Amino acid sequence: MTSLIVSKFGGSSVANAEQIIKVAGIIGSSSDRKIVIVSAPGKGKNDKEKITDHLINIATEGRHFHSQKKEISGNDSKNAVIDKFSSIIKDLGIEGDDIIENLKSDLDKNLPDKMKRDFYASRGEHYNSIVVSRYLNKSGLEAWTALPEDIGLVVSEDFGNAKVMPLSYKNMKKNLVTESKPGIAVVPGFYGITENGDVAVFSRGGSDLTGGEVAYAVDAALYENWTDTDGIYQVDPRIIPDSEVIPKLTYKEIRLLSAKGFNVFHYDAMIKCRKKEIPINIRNTNNPESEGTLIVSDRIPTETVVGIARLDNTAYLYLEKSGSGDTIGFLAKLLDIMKRFGIETYHYPTDRDDVSVIFNQHDLNGSENDLIDMINEELQPDVLEINHDLTILSPVGKGMKDHPGIIAEAAIAMKEKNISIEILDQGPAQYSFHFGIQNRYSDTAIRALYERLILNQG
Ligand code: ASP
Repeated sequence: MTSLIVSKFGGSSVANAEQIIKVAGIIGSSSDRKIVIVSAPGKGKNDKEKITDHLINIATEGRHFHSQKKEISGNDSKNAVIDKFSSIIKDLGIEGDDIIENLKSDLDKNLPDKMKRDFYASRGEHYNSIVVSRYLNKSGLEAWTALPEDIGLVVSEDFGNAKVMPLSYKNMKKNLVTESKPGIAVVPGFYGITENGDVAVFSRGGSDLTGGEVAYAVDAALYENWTDTDGIYQVDPRIIPDSEVIPKLTYKEIRLLSAKGFNVFHYDAMIKCRKKEIPINIRNTNNPESEGTLIVSDRIPTETVVGIARLDNTAYLYLEKSGSGDTIGFLAKLLDIMKRFGIETYHYPTDRDDVSVIFNQHDLNGSENDLIDMINEELQPDVLEINHDLTILSPVGKGMKDHPGIIAEAAIAMKEKNISIEILDQGPAQYSFHFGIQNRYSDTAIRALYERLILNQG
């Protein structure tokens, strides 16, 4: 049985020298931490933006921030990136003139548009992996920089959303384990190399993905995801400050929670670990004493509800049409229309002749009238309405199945606060159920559910 740990450190964990020093302390505290994945520097105390955003802004000559209504020129971003790396290098006391020189020349590189964004975006991770491995060596931990081109991390040509090619697994196993160089391998997250030798990045937040893919390739005993929170909380601690970190969750439970605002890490990274049942440990770089949340394939629950997710800004479409319940494919037609508008849909409570579809209201994006016109034209409903500003609250827990009365308890909590449940849906695995309520009641409702289902459970 391997004891190899793959540890991924996110942007906040490597945002400046102070953080990188903490990272070195964590790596040095277990000899099983032999493969480390690093993000680009995230937002430190004094930074307005993440380095990756600055890099994309340079590639797009200011359009990246402009589209977020921020006026930061490509040149300002370039200075911010160079200043950031210069100060990290100086504060860590490592040799880095070559890093700054190479960084500058990379940021002057002329590439076709399609490739330019990805190449520039990858430079944060690229140079940070060199910085971190140099600092590990300086602090007495032998380390080497394991670039995607060195370890054979080959990706598809889907720039901005690259996928790992199957041959990468064998390559990575060989280069990171069986024929590895001595010392700790520091792998830059977020990008790989295409068969043509170009850099292509994963979707945003993709260093998690590198970590998951590497953990899968090397058959790691554990994938650690180091971030800036103690783990996954029962309920958003900004709303319920007393809520506690959940010690253990199954992959399925975390999936149900993360579908609703628990955006801890990249879902695709989890899929890979789940396939080989590699546990994932979410940990806090700023509080390594805390054991964090461990995500495993199975657990024996001692509680019914383990966490409550909340998803704001949803809307529901209500449609009624006599006889639609006897029309094969009616719902498929409705969903197909919504698909044409690029609307992400979440739940579909139905009755005989009526159906509602819950979706992200931001996806309407000004096209609500067109959507209604198209549904009227193609499906000729008797009633068609879109109701806005709904929150979906979703208690989750493996222990809920076969435990009578949980939904009743939750409904009583809503009744006591005089909150009307507009939507009710139970997940098919019976690990979750969903209440749709008006946005304006969501803080009160989540508190009431927390008290009733988590605090007072027997
Ligand atoms: N630096 C990349 C991003 O900001 C990838 C990551 O940090 O996971 O999206």
